[in-house]
Amino acid sequence: MSDHRKASNRDPACLFCKIVAGEIPGDVVHETETTLAFRDIQPQAPTHVLVIPKAHHTDAVAATRADAALMADVVLAAGEVARIEGIADSGYRLVANTGRDAQQSVGHLHLHVLGGRSLQWPPG
Ligand code: C5P
Repeated sequence: MSDHRKASNRDPACLFCKIVAGEIPGDVVHETETTLAFRDIQPQAPTHVLVIPKAHHTDAVAATRADAALMADVVLAAGEVARIEGIADSGYRLVANTGRDAQQSVGHLHLHVLGGRSLQWPPG
C-alpha cells in the first residue's frame, strides 16, 4: 500500500491521528484497513459519527488529490456506518466542513454522518 494511504502517514500533533493510533480513546463503530469511524463527542443528532482516513490528509480535496481511491473508501465507509446505525433508508447527511468559514476545527479530513431525525436545511 502506498504511503499516503497508511496510518504511518500521520501528523503527531493531530488529534484524529492520535485516535487512529489509540493514544486517545474513540468510540469506534466501524473500521476498515484505510478508515476509522467513531462517535462524535458532541453529537448534534441521534446518529453523529465521524469517518476519517487513517492516513493524515487535511481535507477532502487534499485527500482526493493524493489518492482518489482513499476518498472513495471514506465515502463507502460512511454508507456502511449509515447501514449499521439503521439510517440508510430514512436518510442521512454527510458533511465535510472545510476551512475557517465552515468551522473546520480538526485539520484531518472527517465526514460527519448525521441522521436519526429530520434534519433542517439550510444549516446555520
Ligand atoms: O467539522 P469540525 O472540524 O468542526 O468537526 C470536528 C468534530 O470533532 C466536532 O464535531 C467535535 O465534536 C469532534 N471531536 C470529537 N472528539 C474529539 C474532538 C473533537 O468527536 N476528541
